[in-house]
Amino acid sequence: MPENLNLVEIASKHVLLQQSRKALKARCPFHKDDTTSLMITPQNNFFKCFGCGAEGGPIEFLMRIENKSRTEIVNGLAKQGFPL
Ligand SMILES: [Zn+2]
Repeated sequence: MPENLNLVEIASKHVLLQQSRKALKARCPFHKDDTTSLMITPQNNFFKCFGCGAEGGPIEFLMRIENKSRTEIVNGLAKQGFPL
């Protein structure tokens, strides 16, 4: 996992993040979420949804939110100058 991809930064462009004790919480953008099922732990650069089971790192988040394959995401990031 590329270190310079910050999941919190990426996620904050798509969802409203709320600070909770150990993690950040948000309404999950991957299913119809009336609560804040999505948890992001900044230390691990990792997200997990307790509603739909989506989980992963920055690449997985982008794949789901942009509905693209891993290759498309990685190529897109490379074009933006991320050394992957
Ligand atoms: Zn979800």
